[in-house]
Amino acid sequence: MKASHFPIFTLKDIPSEADLVSHKLMIKSGIVRQLSSGLYTWLPLGHRILEKIKKVIREEMNAIGSSEITMPLIQPAELWKESGRWDEYGPELLRIYDRHKREYCFGPTFEEVITDLIRKEVSSYKQLPINLFQISTKFRDEIRPRFGVMRAREFVMKDSYSFHSNEQCLNDTYKNYSAAYEKIFKRLMLNFTIVEADSGNIGGNESHEFHVIADTGEDDLLLDKSLQGMNFEIAKTKFGETDLQKIIKENNLKHVKGIEVGHIFKLGDKYSSKMKAEITTKESKNISLFMGCYGIGVSRIVAAAIEQNNDERGIIWPSSISPFDVALIEIDGHKEKSIRDFTSKVYKKMKELNIDVIYDDRESKLGNKLNDWELMGIPKVLIIGSKEVKNNVLTLKDRMKDTKTEINADEVYSQILK
Ligand code: ATP
Ligand code: MG
Repeated sequence: MKASHFPIFTLKDIPSEADLVSHKLMIKSGIVRQLSSGLYTWLPLGHRILEKIKKVIREEMNAIGSSEITMPLIQPAELWKESGRWDEYGPELLRIYDRHKREYCFGPTFEEVITDLIRKEVSSYKQLPINLFQISTKFRDEIRPRFGVMRAREFVMKDSYSFHSNEQCLNDTYKNYSAAYEKIFKRLMLNFTIVEADSGNIGGNESHEFHVIADTGEDDLLLDKSLQGMNFEIAKTKFGETDLQKIIKENNLKHVKGIEVGHIFKLGDKYSSKMKAEITTKESKNISLFMGCYGIGVSRIVAAAIEQNNDERGIIWPSSISPFDVALIEIDGHKEKSIRDFTSKVYKKMKELNIDVIYDDRESKLGNKLNDWELMGIPKVLIIGSKEVKNNVLTLKDRMKDTKTEINADEVYSQILK
């Protein structure tokens, strides 16, 4: 990718409407722009970041045998009336009519739609287990959208659903998802923890949340020394306020703030019994399906990762999330043919090696270019000017380590691929 073909929307000043550092940096670096309350356009830079995160998620979902599907954004009201959630869900559910005055809603989550699919397609234990996922836009009419994409109304979620003929199989799959989520958040290089959680609007018997630990998080967590713990809300319900204070003191529990980036649920037969999703077992008995569901807040991860990785110059992307692996900057390439030729050669070779490189061929000062790529958080910036051409080297600036080194032009590829 050449910067002359890649619209860059960086700003000089920090927008005043943003509270959180992640929200400020997402606007300043040109990741998103707000359309209206809780609605955001993802600019080219932001789009790439979302795709990087989706790629990691897809790989780990495929690894545990979950198959990708796409479900409609709009859902018929009848299904929600069957499950009982048309009345339970409240004003977060955006309800609409079509031209025939039929009632629908924008999908905030997909338990009803997927249960309807499975009840029509599956009738025997032999067809199970089934594991499906989608990555798509969800809509929740949040009462107070805030902190940019952290709590938006329209946001990207990965949601998986599993169906089983017995509880043991659900329990095993639940463990597989939990392990896959750990892998995903490790690969995204986030500092996170898993806590026991409340099932909320989705329901079911058991659930766990995955939280990125950050002072700016909206959730209260109680963690022990090994960073295992509980969401504060569920701890209060479980033990009562007075007993909980005792437990906190006796066990030396730490109170930290978290950003919820994932949530998994054992739903059991909550939806399948109401919606009559039944199968015949090996023993020829008719039973309601066992079900699990598993969500990840894809767009929220972008903000959460920035909360954990930034400095006064801007974002510092973990390499797995970064929109580009390398920014290749030429100094005065438009004036000096030798510089343009040298940089073009490096660029071409990097593309051949599948290095995700952005070549900054803009007619702009080195300082401005550097500021842009540091603000945008690219882990490695390579600089080529007349001095570099003369000595057959490239100057490497490492965003994370904050170092500046010279590398021989022939060794640069192995250094970057490392
Ligand atoms: P929260 O408690 O933050 O409102 P939730 O528990 O209602 O979230 P889930 O139903 O568990 O959310 O949805 C799965 C994931 O989707 C969440 O873990 C979160 O990362 C993400 N998510 C939920 N609501 C939003 C939102 N309004 N904006 C961005 N991401 C969201
Ligand atoms: Mg949740």
